[in-house]
Amino acid sequence: MKIVLRPRKTLLPNFATALASALMLVTAGVNADTVTVYSARNEQLIKPLFDAYTKETGTQIQLLTDKEGPLLERLKAEGAKSPADVLITVDAGNLWHAGRLGLLRPIKSPVLNANIPANLRDPKGEWYGLSVRARTIIYNKKFVNPSKLSTYEALAEPEWKGKLCLRTSKKVYNQSLVATMMATLGEQKTEEVVRGWIANLATDVFADDNGVIKAVAAGQCEVGIVNTYYLARALDKDPNLPVGLFWANQKERGVHVNVSGAGVTKNAPNAAGAQKLIEWLSSETAQSIYTNEDFEYPANPKVKPDSIIRHWGPYKMDLINVSKAGELQAAATKLMDRAGYR
Ligand code: FE
Repeated sequence: MKIVLRPRKTLLPNFATALASALMLVTAGVNADTVTVYSARNEQLIKPLFDAYTKETGTQIQLLTDKEGPLLERLKAEGAKSPADVLITVDAGNLWHAGRLGLLRPIKSPVLNANIPANLRDPKGEWYGLSVRARTIIYNKKFVNPSKLSTYEALAEPEWKGKLCLRTSKKVYNQSLVATMMATLGEQKTEEVVRGWIANLATDVFADDNGVIKAVAAGQCEVGIVNTYYLARALDKDPNLPVGLFWANQKERGVHVNVSGAGVTKNAPNAAGAQKLIEWLSSETAQSIYTNEDFEYPANPKVKPDSIIRHWGPYKMDLINVSKAGELQAAATKLMDRAGYR
């Protein structure tokens, strides 16, 4: 964890003083505008972006990075005294949770509404997706003819017995996937599918997506479900990895997507600056930097994805609002538990 906090802007008593101070700052070549960001997104991924923002606008960014759990705890504990203006985190489940805890404030932004499709933002305007993370099927190219693949649900069929690898259900990515399946297929059908997956496992569940990719590459299993950026990273290191990507559920609802995203905090000392920063993050310039660093898909549809993932082609995404993943997360966790998905 890294914390760099500068003294907060003091509130100026009246316009004359404000003007005088502004003039002083302009003369001194300093911009008093500072935005404090709490981020669960890796510092190395967002730091270059914030540097670009400071260069373009003069606004200083104070950045604190940590895991989402401790960040939310911190925001809660700091309450009205929190210096945070912006919260950035991954997975709509986490963003939804932050909203439920009352840590975010709704904003109205025609810019964000124009740049970010409706399914990738909170219906109440408390948070906005900034990158799209597709979770889809991967397969071993030596063993699997992709024409045999179709949907997540089909991986529960007996033909995949002993051939499937999955990451643990403790990870929010899988909770979100199952939550959106519940919203579309209903609880009973989803539970049948999850039970089928578990019956088909080649081996115990993995701690992370990289473990699933390695197991598929090694032929320990033939198919798995992962976020595409992990495969992009693996292929970036080793282009000969015998792992293919298959876009799930293309003939019907589309592939499951989630987001990383941002919101303005409830007690933001600089809410206007916070909103401006998030609006900038949704712009075409920022979106390329924000997503290419980690091989994610831009949330702004006007922006092309990185060349490494572009060859996977366009795909149809499930248009269910990603906030459903948050709403049904607890129910999804229970369902997976019942189905023996550890
Ligand atoms: Fe991840």
